[in-house]
Amino acid sequence: MMCPAAANDPAEEGVSMTEPKILDGKTLAAQLRGSLKARVDALKAAVPGAAPALATILVGDDPASTTYVKMKQNACAKVGLTSIKVEMAADTTTAQLLAKIDELNRDDAVRGILLQHPVPSQIDERACFDAIALDKDVDGVTCLGFGRMSMGEAAYGSATPQGIMTLIDHYGVELKGKDVVVIGRSPILGKPMALMMLNRHATVTICHSRTRGLDEKVRAADIVVGAVGIPRFVKAEWIRPGAVLIDAGYHPQDNCGDIDLEQAAPLSTAYTPVPGGVGPMTILTLIAQTVDSAEAFYLKRQA
Ligand code: NAP
Repeated sequence: MMCPAAANDPAEEGVSMTEPKILDGKTLAAQLRGSLKARVDALKAAVPGAAPALATILVGDDPASTTYVKMKQNACAKVGLTSIKVEMAADTTTAQLLAKIDELNRDDAVRGILLQHPVPSQIDERACFDAIALDKDVDGVTCLGFGRMSMGEAAYGSATPQGIMTLIDHYGVELKGKDVVVIGRSPILGKPMALMMLNRHATVTICHSRTRGLDEKVRAADIVVGAVGIPRFVKAEWIRPGAVLIDAGYHPQDNCGDIDLEQAAPLSTAYTPVPGGVGPMTILTLIAQTVDSAEAFYLKRQA
């Protein structure tokens, strides 16, 4: 039996469909890691005694957070950065966490501070993020860093959206003049993503849980960013044939992201696979920004 043409049939829309390009974050991150290692080696050779470190702070024992922090520590080791592991009890107070951040801010060997999100609910996470010194905010979580990035001033970008920018630039995804829909407006992902793309001359619509007519907005987009936190939330029927799909979500239990890629990817011109797309670029970006911070510190001190 012949199926009726789907509402988003590529042929009907006059889009010539070739195989979509896979925006392969895993391979790109591995390539870029090699050059980061070379930079750390060169820095250590140029500055005897230099042992730049990323401090990772884990509060509590949430299993997913524990895994993410371990992955970040392993990534440090691969490029020759020291990782300083700070583990704090689940009943840590805001004052105790602020005191620890202050201590790390004062430690010259610490060139980056990662406070693993989310922290237990009794802690004022925003206050703790904002206590991180700007030059050590390599995960891009401070209000000051966000404001500077938004204004086009120098600042470390929030790691996940910054990693997405590196990935799409590598694969030559054009942003200028494109219509982008970002679904999600969290401080670490949706909001900075939208601003980064706006700064690159895309026309950006930010959607969230109170957005009306989401499917229609997505259907008008050249580039769709899924940053919702719900497995396969973005449906293939919403996708305009030829769109670029960026899936920031990751749901290990379902082995999928926030976009129904199985159905939607064939309609796209390019997409990030899950896993192996955005995730590896997030960690790579954190490490790259720590290397940037270390170079800025040690080479300035030498000058
Ligand atoms: P979050 O803080 O929970 O934010 C989710 C956003 O989605 C919110 O802005 C929310 O809107 C919006 N939303 C929720 N339900 C919606 C609905 N029905 N319709 C439209 N919008 C809706 O999550 P997040 O931290 O940004 O993370 C989002 C996803 O990215 C998750 O899957 C997470 O695992 C993934 N992530 C991946 C990485 C990585 O390294 N790959 C890093 C960070 C996050 P409201 O603001 O209105 O509540």
